[in-house]
Formats: sequence, C-alpha cells, structure tokens
Amino acid sequence: MRFSWTAELRTDMGRKIFKSIIFVALIIMAASLLIMMSAMSSFYTKEQMEQLRSETELLAAGIELEGMDYIEGLDKDSSIRITWVNQDGDVLYDTDMDSAIMENHVAREEIAEALKDGYGESARFSNSLSERLLYSAKRLSDGTVIRVALAQATAWTVLINFAMPVTAVIVIAVILSMLFAGSLTKRIIQPINDMDLDAPLKNEIYIEMKPFAERIDEQQKQLKKDKEALIKNEQIRQEFTANVSHELKTPLQVISGYAELIRAGIVKEGDIRPFADKIYTEAQRLTALVEDVIDLTRLDNGGQGYQWEETDVYMIAENVVESLLNTAEAEKVHISLSGKSTRIYTVSQLLHSIIYNLCDNAIKYNRTGGSVNVSISKAGENVLITVSDTGIGIPEDCLDRVFERFYRVDKSRSKEVRGTGLGLSIVKHAAKIIDGDLKVDSHIGRGSEFTLTLPARHKETFMRNL
Ligand code: ADP
Repeated sequence: MRFSWTAELRTDMGRKIFKSIIFVALIIMAASLLIMMSAMSSFYTKEQMEQLRSETELLAAGIELEGMDYIEGLDKDSSIRITWVNQDGDVLYDTDMDSAIMENHVAREEIAEALKDGYGESARFSNSLSERLLYSAKRLSDGTVIRVALAQATAWTVLINFAMPVTAVIVIAVILSMLFAGSLTKRIIQPINDMDLDAPLKNEIYIEMKPFAERIDEQQKQLKKDKEALIKNEQIRQEFTANVSHELKTPLQVISGYAELIRAGIVKEGDIRPFADKIYTEAQRLTALVEDVIDLTRLDNGGQGYQWEETDVYMIAENVVESLLNTAEAEKVHISLSGKSTRIYTVSQLLHSIIYNLCDNAIKYNRTGGSVNVSISKAGENVLITVSDTGIGIPEDCLDRVFERFYRVDKSRSKEVRGTGLGLSIVKHAAKIIDGDLKVDSHIGRGSEFTLTLPARHKETFMRNL
C-alpha cells in the first residue's frame, strides 16, 4: 500500500467522515439495545404473568379444598406473597404483613377485577419497594379473593445482571464499527486523494466533483497556453533585439568607415562631398530605424496612452499625400487622393502612421511613371481606406510574411530601396489598436492594394458601447 492505513483518516475530511460514521453507528447501536431490552422485558413480564396465573389457579384450587390450612402449609420463604381478602376488600390474611393493620384492598385493580369477573391481574411499582410487582387475583367460590404477588426485577436490574455480556457486545460493536468506519472513510476519500491535478479528468471521480475537476482542467490548459505565449513572446523579443542590433551595425560601419577615411586625409578634396552624402544617407537610415523601433515598442506595450479623438480620415490622408509629394515626384510616381470628408472616433496619430507607411511603400515599390491612389469611402457601418499602386507587386507566398518584423521580399533588391523592414509591422500593430481590419491584394508586376476597414463610430456610440 502506498499510504499508511490511517493516513486518510488524519485528513480533515477523513476525521469528519470517520466521526460521522462512528456517531451514526453508536446511535443505531444504542437504539437497537433499547428496543431489544424493552422487547425482552415485555416478553419476560408476559411469561411471568402466565406463570403467576397458573400458580394462582393452583393456590385457589388448594384453598377451595383445604381452606386456610393450605396457605399455612406453604413454604414461607417463597418469593411469592399471598393476600386473601373478603368480598368487601378487607384483608383476611397476608403472608408478609399483619392483616389487621392493612388498608382495604377493594380499589386495587386486580382485586376489583377478580371480584367483578372472577379473575384479574395487574402490574405496578410498589410504593414501599423499589421494584415492580405483578399481581394475579382469583375469586373463590365463597366470594373471597385470593391474590398472589411476585416482585419482578426492573429493567435496571436486568441491565445490571446483563452488564457483562452487554459491555462485551458494546466493546466488540465499537471496535467493529471503528474498523468499518475506518475502511469506509478510506474508500470515500481515496478517489479524492488519488486525483491527479495535472490531468484531473483522467481519474475516476465522484460526479459531484466533475465541475471542480473540469475547472481545474480548464485552468491548467489556460496556464499552459499562457506559458507557451510567454515563451513565444520572449523568443520574438530576442529575435527582434538581434535583428535591431544587426540592422544598426551595418549603417554604423559604413559611417565610421567613411569618417575614418576622411580623418586619415586620404580622401581627395573632390570626393569629400559624395562621402558626406553617403554618411548623411546612412545616418538618415539609422534615424528612421530607431524611430520605427521606438514606435513598435510603444505599440507593443498594448497601445496605452494614445489619444482617442473625433477626427477626419480624409484630412489625415490629405496630410500624408502632401508630405509625400516631393518623394513621389523624385521617384516619378503620381499620387492622388479620392473620397470625401469622413469623421470617426479614432487615434489620429496611429491612423496617420498607417496611411503614411502604406503610401511610402506604394511609392517605393513602384515603377517610373506609375501611380498611387488613396481612397476614402464608406461601406455600411465601416470606413474603408484603400492605398493602391501600380508597382512591382508582392509574390503570393509572401503576402502574410510582409507584416513580420524585418521581413523584406527580396533582400538583395530591397536593400537598394530605402526602408527598415518594420513599416508593415507597425501598420499591422497600429491597425489592431484602432480596431481596424487590414487586407492586402497584390499581383506581381501589376501592383498592390492595401485596404484598412475601420468601424465608423463616433465618440458617443463608442462611449455607450464601452
Ligand atoms: P520596408 O521598410 O522594407 O518597406 P515594410 O515592412 O514596409 O518594410 O515592408 C516589408 C516588405 O514588403 C518590403 O520590403 C517589400 O518587399 C514588401 N512591400 C511592402 N509594400 C509593398 C508594395 N506596396 N508593393 C510591393 N511590395 C511591397
């Protein structure tokens, strides 16, 4: 056995069950003893009464034949007391007492009955003696009544006489019920003790415990999920840190390389300008990267601290398009905006960042003479913001991956194009915070279309639904 015999009984529950069983067993025992004793005593009384009756009959027959002489001839030490009364109930003779001082007996139940019906009997406690007396009386042919009394042991006397066997029975019963209660308690508790908390549904358990087990199982699963998510998060964080360090290192190496050359004085006067340009470009790249990392870190922290306000989506898009006009012109890409003023309750800063990144990409990954269109439209309860371009397109198998951090479709080619590889992951995170749904549709060589669907809610409805 895995546990000591009493291990279960020492638990709180065990003690309680054990005590209850013992309590019930003792009550049942006491009750059965009481019932048994009363049954026994009434049986005993009946037997004694029968006996007394036949003795009375015999005595009556004897007196009828021999008169008083018969009584006087009887054994005086007998436990039987004989009383003889006349028709009026006056005592004529008594074996134990002086008949002269005895009161009239006509009122005694058995005597009254015998006077009336010829025979009477009764049982009562004597006032003088602390015992029960059985009486049996018979009317004789001359109208007098002969009564025989027998002292009967009371229940207590019987109990005292039976003390030894009764005690033995009680002791045995207590020991048996304790053993029984012990093993019963163990049996009741065992399924609870055996419950494997790591797999609570795999055990044989009480039906009453099922919801409890299911709850534990649920929590266990949730805990496992949380743990997995935590590990995954930690992995992503580590990967991100490694990537950021790597991305920072390359421009820094380029910058310090050129600076080194200039400092050493080996660079010709005429080459200093292009070198400075390179340093400037790389520094710009570094700034953009650091800014993107800062943005992403802030978005990662659950999007708290952003200012929600009633704002015009069209105006934000207009703002973005204007700020990118020069860039578009430099890339020989035409950029346009369509739609009309649409106000919604959102975070302007994030919406600006989304549209900016999408438009910036649409220009970057375009072709000379290509175009970019931003359109704002309403579709039922939603506002659609679409950024479409006539650019190089994204291969189908990369459509999901472009939203990953530092993922770029064609590394070797994209390197020539400015960018950090963080733009679309910023877009994805920002969209999530403002409850936007982001879709992309793209065809190689034909262009791409990014659609952000936002709930067209206003401050009042937003607050009401909170
Ligand atoms: P990047 O800084 O490289 O632009 P993004 O996260 O914004 O990083 O984009 C990830 C990659 O997705 C880009 O490197 C590019 O290969 C691809 N991509 C994004 N937008 C477009 C687009 N409009 N057309 C074609 N390819 C795109």
